[in-house]
Amino acid sequence: MELNERAKNISPSPTLSIDAKAKQMLAEGAKVINFGAGEPDFDTPESIKQAAVKAIDKGMTKYTPVAGIPPLKEALIKKFEVDNNLHYKPSQIVVSAGAKHSLYNAFMVLCQPGDEVLLPAPYWVSYLEQIKLTGAFPLIVQTREENGFKLTPQELRSALTDRTRLIVLNSPSNPTGAVYTKDELKALGEVLLESNIAVISDEIYEKLIYDGEKHVSIAQLNPGLKEKTVIINGVSKAYAMTGWRIGYAAAPAEVAKAMTDLQSHSTSNPTSIAQVAAQAAIEGPQDEAGKMVEQFDKRRKYMVERLQAMPGLSCNLPKGAFYVFPSIKGLMGKSYQGKKINGASDLASIILDDVQVAIVPGVAFGDDGCFRLSYATSMGNIKEGLDRIEGVLKDLT
Ligand code: PMP
Ligand code: GLU
Repeated sequence: MELNERAKNISPSPTLSIDAKAKQMLAEGAKVINFGAGEPDFDTPESIKQAAVKAIDKGMTKYTPVAGIPPLKEALIKKFEVDNNLHYKPSQIVVSAGAKHSLYNAFMVLCQPGDEVLLPAPYWVSYLEQIKLTGAFPLIVQTREENGFKLTPQELRSALTDRTRLIVLNSPSNPTGAVYTKDELKALGEVLLESNIAVISDEIYEKLIYDGEKHVSIAQLNPGLKEKTVIINGVSKAYAMTGWRIGYAAAPAEVAKAMTDLQSHSTSNPTSIAQVAAQAAIEGPQDEAGKMVEQFDKRRKYMVERLQAMPGLSCNLPKGAFYVFPSIKGLMGKSYQGKKINGASDLASIILDDVQVAIVPGVAFGDDGCFRLSYATSMGNIKEGLDRIEGVLKDLT
């Protein structure tokens, strides 16, 4: 059967593929340490699970309104007010089957074939493929390690063309953990306000933030910026709810309506039971989520300290999310048992094949001079995995 051109052009998610490969090796008995997964290793908090059980008992097992049940929308509106000082109406909130689905809806209703979408690299894997699916072109702008992998206003200004329609911002960032400050967002916002460009602001790691940093949404800086911005968020990361599949968007009403209409013909509503669980997560006590952040923080510091001490690596201290993104510039051209390292992909293959540690090479995120490690795994695994990586790096010639 002949596939259409857009389908032929899609690459599978490399993060999901590496995670699947690591899990398969584990199932086959290999002692793999998996730093590939972008998924909290904690269980969903009990109060959230109980809310879902009650929802089943109460018979909340039918179709719901396409864009989400009213009490969940109200909880999200309150969350935006309290956390972000942003005020939305229910018609501006769209709940979907995960933030990935919210992003897909947003790209589909905002992009035209031939448009350019400005994508700062390193970027999270699915943006690129979702942009391509709409027929638009990703306009990739490489950010620099010395700027903490953050786009500067000059880089933004010089990248824009007549065909640029949209920019994707992701703070805290997957894969770099970079967090934009209010002033940095203001400076980018000034450039954007001079243009017609819309913003997709992926804030799914909002709650996973360290060192007293504060998450800021570009939409909260100015009413003009709010009018241009679709915020994407979800419960997967902050509440260890990846499998429940609930994400949400807040957008200008006409954009939210278009996303809702699109969703009405694809998935209908997100799962009724998961919506009740998401409401419990957003409205309920936040102490379990806070404890997870404390654990992530300890692992982050340990991991960065170890990586910084390894020969040939440099590593920024990430301020958010649960990833580190060290650079391997100092290892380029070296060899391990006759195998040459010309990029992070080579290093990732060596590390997986020879010492059974799964990492994601930066090529997946548009920068093969780096690799990504997730610290959403136990401290025991982190120690063991880093020992094995260090062993390889010490043996390079
Ligand atoms: N955005 C980013 C930056 C992510 O890392 C993820 C995690 N896969 C998502 C969106 C999608 O999250 P969800 O599980 O809600 O689809
Ligand atoms: N966001 C996670 C990651 O980057 C999950 C995998 C995915 O959805 O691609 O690893």
